[in-house]
Amino acid sequence: MSSPATRDVTARTLLAGVVGRPVRHSLSPLIHNAWIQAAGLDAVYLALAPQADGFERLVAGLRGGVAVGVNVTLPYKEEALALADQASQAARRAGAANLMLFRDDGTIEADNTDGHGLMLALAQAGYCASNSPAVVLGAGGAARAAVLALLEAGAPRIALVNRSLDRAQAIAALDPRISAHDWAGAARALDDAAVLINATSLGMEGQPPLELSLEPAPVTAVVMDMVYRPLRTRLLQAAQARGNPTADGLSMLIGQAVPSFAALFGQPPPEIDVRGLCEKALVPRP
Ligand code: NDP
Repeated sequence: MSSPATRDVTARTLLAGVVGRPVRHSLSPLIHNAWIQAAGLDAVYLALAPQADGFERLVAGLRGGVAVGVNVTLPYKEEALALADQASQAARRAGAANLMLFRDDGTIEADNTDGHGLMLALAQAGYCASNSPAVVLGAGGAARAAVLALLEAGAPRIALVNRSLDRAQAIAALDPRISAHDWAGAARALDDAAVLINATSLGMEGQPPLELSLEPAPVTAVVMDMVYRPLRTRLLQAAQARGNPTADGLSMLIGQAVPSFAALFGQPPPEIDVRGLCEKALVPRP
């Protein structure tokens, strides 16, 4: 089997990709090109980094039949939604899109599959949302998508914990089942949590560590970290050490890529071990 770098690119090859800044670290090309190759599709999936203010210009160049669509990552998810002609309910509710589909007539459809990816990762760890209070750390785009997906799945209560309380309060204003807390309120919120989700960038390589004691949390609570560099974050290590079930950010990343691939290429991804490929790519090089 040839690698994506050596396979033929023809005049018929479909173009898709991920747009972000920075984007060179993205695992999405690895995941989608592996699926493309296994499915025998004549397509290629690239990582595209526009100039800081160049997202709209890039999209203008790609729409109308040039590319079938793109995934979108930081910092362009809100702009992606704003540029769309139609948007799914998931994208509108999240206020952000991670997928843009370029139709032949020049229109753009936006979707947000992050919530789907999160719920898939949580389900794999045994979490069922109904009757299960949740604690979400963070109040950025990922936290907002998480909160909305949890509510949609039936979570009765969500405690949203964030450094900037006003950002948590803005999300809490969306639904009475959400409460906003500063970092000092995290321990009390964990008391009866059935799931804890880190949706901050704390614990990511190059970022400050996530300092949070899991002591107040039940050992049955699923602990999920959206951060996947490193894959086994300190939060997940601490959770595993006390016996909590865990879900990692890579499960979510692959989970959001599944509906993205189906929407971009009109078929579900083939069942191959993309997780193994990603794990190899995530091993730090000496
Ligand atoms: P945002 O930049 O929108 O939000 C960042 C969040 O982290 C904010 O709540 C911010 O708090 C908090 N934060 C950052 N630095 C600190 C700090 N020093 N102390 C306390 N809080 C801090 O990012 P996103 O919401 O888009 O992404 C959040 C994380 O989720 C990232 O690590 C991202 O990689 C990951 N992610 C993973 C996905 C996956 O598929 N696995 C998908 C999407 C995101 P404040 O509001 O106070 O600034």
